[in-house]
Amino acid sequence: MASSILEALDIIADNISPLDKEIIPIELSVGRVVTEDYIANFDLPRFHNSAMDGYAVKVVDATKKVTCNEVIYAGDNPKMLLKEGSAIKIMTGAPIPKGCEAIVPIENVTMKEDVILLPSDIQTNGFIRMAGEDIKKGTVFLAKGSVINAYTIASLASQGITHVTVTRVIKVAIFGTGDELRPHFEKIEAHQLYNSNSPMFLTRSRALGCDVRFIRTSADTLEALKKSIKSTLDADIIITSGGVSVGDKDFTKEAFTNLGMQVLIDKIDIKPGRPTIVGVIDKTVIINLPGNPLASMVNYELFIRAIIRKMSGRTEHYHGTVTTTMKHDFSVRGGKYAVILGRFDGTSFEALKPQMPGMVSPMQEADGLILITPDVNLLESGKTVTMIPIKWEFGIGKKVELFTS
Ligand code: AMP
Ligand code: MG
Repeated sequence: MASSILEALDIIADNISPLDKEIIPIELSVGRVVTEDYIANFDLPRFHNSAMDGYAVKVVDATKKVTCNEVIYAGDNPKMLLKEGSAIKIMTGAPIPKGCEAIVPIENVTMKEDVILLPSDIQTNGFIRMAGEDIKKGTVFLAKGSVINAYTIASLASQGITHVTVTRVIKVAIFGTGDELRPHFEKIEAHQLYNSNSPMFLTRSRALGCDVRFIRTSADTLEALKKSIKSTLDADIIITSGGVSVGDKDFTKEAFTNLGMQVLIDKIDIKPGRPTIVGVIDKTVIINLPGNPLASMVNYELFIRAIIRKMSGRTEHYHGTVTTTMKHDFSVRGGKYAVILGRFDGTSFEALKPQMPGMVSPMQEADGLILITPDVNLLESGKTVTMIPIKWEFGIGKKVELFTS
């Protein structure tokens, strides 16, 4: 029986587990997911220091003339004691001296030789960066299940961490099925077709951080399909397209089940892309997508992206959404849970016209998709809609409403 879109996403969330882990240098870890909490070994900043180029002073010396004949630079380890009636010149990032109660920025004083006139408004701890105000020793500064980005690297480096433990890279194997298909780098006859799905899934999966292998297209026979499957079973995910419908040569599911596939999702109530199948053989997750390019693409974005997020150990593995409004009226046939691809310009959603399951050209324009319920016949201009982004990866930590009705 077909699963609903939400049931399919639940089955994925419940059945797909994170892969094992590996240790890698932080410089190579962007996009990877940490498998443990990172706890600060020391305060950041490590010591109280000056936030400005200025003078270390006592608060009681506000409005007074004080003398200054010492300087502290960043990198110094000052041993002197600041006394009332005096100031010590200090540079940004330099440790504050003992006895210092505030920093007065250089631009706020008037200076004559080594005598300085201090302003009236000097606050206790003013312009002092306190030890631990950024990261406190003993606290979690990077939580298990987070995706590392360039700014995470800054936090890791600031703690003197050279290597991180992350989920290993997901190995994906891809093949198309269909006697009519030829690789895009060969000459073809008028009745043949270039395989556009496999290079599409290859590059999309790579963009999502997977290590991808793509093998030759399988012919439409059980034997050929089984041979292709056997050669890819070492992958974590196998993605196929085609041969899942009710045609006379649609043997994809049969070939996989003959080789022991346990079916988790057998068709999804979605238009386009209903014949999609998700299953497992041992630890390998299998997704059989329909052959129609746009139908397979929307199912990739909805379901394979969810599988990849879950397998990589991300805490934020649910689809995030953006609330926006329709740019124009858009009529739909209704009666089905359906996907509409569109452009998003930051304020509104413009449905792509035309968008048919067998098309290729609309896909490159899509910034996101909306999911509509069967009662929707018309999306009026200005109507609030819920968009799932495609052009940027937006996973979140909890389930939210995905449908527009
Ligand atoms: P199927 O699901 O095998 O019945 O294929 C449905 C439609 O998608 C047919 O028109 C196929 O020729 C086309 N198709 C199948 N696989 C691919 C592919 N890898 N690239 C482009 N089109 C495909
Ligand atoms: Mg086919």
